[in-house]
Amino acid sequence: MYSEFDREVGEMRVEQERQARIDAASAALKAEGRDVCDCGATISLARRRVYPSATRCLECQQIAEREAYCR
Ligand SMILES: [Zn+2]
Repeated sequence: MYSEFDREVGEMRVEQERQARIDAASAALKAEGRDVCDCGATISLARRRVYPSATRCLECQQIAEREAYCR
């Protein structure tokens, strides 16, 4: 039978899984890449979520890519 207790345990499990995903995501951010670019700009968390290994801010990345294509 589906009791109040089961419902609470279920919610706790969902909450634990949610927290575990957040922990894993922040661990990945700490493990790879950096949060400050060579130019001193902060690499946004949104950018680092998409590119966890990013070491440049968006501006520097675009410059670097442009130089790479021009070569
Ligand atoms: Zn930069």
